[in-house]
Amino acid sequence: MLNADRNPAAVVLCLFALSACSENAPDPNDPDLLLINGKIITMDAADSIIEAVSIRGGKIVGLGTSSKVKGFAGPNTKIIDLAGSAVTPGLIDAHNHFGWGAADAIFTLNLSYPKVKSIDDVLTLIKSETEARDANEWIIGSEWDAGKFDERRDMTASDLDPISPDHPVWLLHTSAHYGVANSRALALANITSDTADPDGGIIARDDAGNPTGILADQAMNLMFDVTPPYTVLHFDEATTQLVGQLSSEGITTIKDPEIDERHWKAYRRMQSRGDLTVRVFVLWRAPDTVDDAKSLLERIAPFTDPKKKRDDDQLISGGVKIYIDGSGTARTAWVYDEWNKNFTETDEGNFGLTYVEPDILFEQIRLFHKAGIHLGVHAIGDRAIDFTMDAYDKVLGETPTYGLRHSIIHCNIPTDRAMDMMSNLQSSFDAAYPEVQPAFLWWIGDAYAANFGADRNPRVLPLKSFKQRGIQWAASSDYNVSPFAPRYGIWASIARQTLFGTHGTHPYGTDESITVNDALRSYTTWAAHQVFLEDKIGSIEAGKYADIVVWDRDPYSVSTEELKEMKALLTLSNGKIVHRDAAFD
Ligand SMILES: [Zn+2]
Repeated sequence: MLNADRNPAAVVLCLFALSACSENAPDPNDPDLLLINGKIITMDAADSIIEAVSIRGGKIVGLGTSSKVKGFAGPNTKIIDLAGSAVTPGLIDAHNHFGWGAADAIFTLNLSYPKVKSIDDVLTLIKSETEARDANEWIIGSEWDAGKFDERRDMTASDLDPISPDHPVWLLHTSAHYGVANSRALALANITSDTADPDGGIIARDDAGNPTGILADQAMNLMFDVTPPYTVLHFDEATTQLVGQLSSEGITTIKDPEIDERHWKAYRRMQSRGDLTVRVFVLWRAPDTVDDAKSLLERIAPFTDPKKKRDDDQLISGGVKIYIDGSGTARTAWVYDEWNKNFTETDEGNFGLTYVEPDILFEQIRLFHKAGIHLGVHAIGDRAIDFTMDAYDKVLGETPTYGLRHSIIHCNIPTDRAMDMMSNLQSSFDAAYPEVQPAFLWWIGDAYAANFGADRNPRVLPLKSFKQRGIQWAASSDYNVSPFAPRYGIWASIARQTLFGTHGTHPYGTDESITVNDALRSYTTWAAHQVFLEDKIGSIEAGKYADIVVWDRDPYSVSTEELKEMKALLTLSNGKIVHRDAAFD
């Protein structure tokens, strides 16, 4: 019976033995839509490439040669001739802050490259905002990156103050792990030289001890307390406006890893209107104390079980996210050896930070694990990843539960020991999966290379080592840290090349490059596993949802460089066209 899902011949055979096959194999007759004459990269277990697929009621019902599949057509069947175009399963972005990112994109001043290439460009934009707004009105910006500025340095309040004496300004770095405030904003947040660093946060200071305006990790909360908050309506408006852009890049499913009640309500509103044209699997952000974590657990446990049967698979409350450490761009990830800076210098005494006390982090991991909740744990530094692996190992030993699929989000520089543990825990408990962002190597790769430094760089995102050790991982963008288009991540998994080549084109080397097939796996079947939908999406097989993308070029035959330019011509979600490029008629 299993073969009936994979083998077109077996599907045909089922027609003559309907009673034996009716449970799993769908009836291929009279489909709504046929895609024929394609190069359909199914990503099934055998890596089958076929010509045609048929769809009915939102599901894939038949596969095979064009002539065979055409034989099932009925009077109402629509036929699309792909004329040789390559087709893949809909792509899955396993870590995409779509709620936050879309709101930032719509409601804040965008400071990303290439619109902004220097601190001067930022100042010009802020200046015109001050002219357009009343004094005292907040100016909020996002997505800047010092690694892409001509000046190659962070901004400080002293850059912003001369052009914005009357307006409070807060500009969030693209990592969302730090930002810069001007003096007016610092004053509104009561941040002075006397303000102590909060746990898990840093208020950057000059030699005289005065705040420079840079606030990292938990210190950003001081600013979030005074800036105008987003509402459900903001998130609803922004995600509704941008969801089509996901489809236009071939994304049909995302894992949104840091939501609260507002995002959940916004997604539910979209779903009830029929606007949620991607699948969304969410993780709730764990609060900072064990007591607050218990309250969150109580609230979400009744509807947070990704294995439970649902009416549809469009919006799934999947689990919880916990932060262990900071970021590689702010040099706040938790590492064994001091951070570097400017590639060759040492950031003396800086080993990064943990978001809250490690004991509390462990208690939170234990709490959610014991309750049977899927966990995504943010861990970038080698020490944070070891901590996470030890915690997973311990709680799985205490409460052995197979199939919760706890992840290591980012997993940037795992030790050999951590990788050994991942490989063991994956096979013994179906847990400890890296959820990585290959496009980091490119988009924030110059700043990253400067901070991790020459010795550590070759160990950053060791995808080939994962593969060699039998570790399965899922790929993602971490939007809006990097752009969400999976083509960038697919390309970067192979090219491992930075945007500017500030510290050489390949500071990470290419020893850890992988194949196109593995890169596609990390955005399809392997990512499907991390949203608990591997039986329903991630490959083009009979019975699965018809989440399918037609591309303008074949990822298996183009040059590595061209992978970055791949264009989705047609995107289907549940068998419906949710994106159609003008070039595709
Ligand atoms: Zn993230």
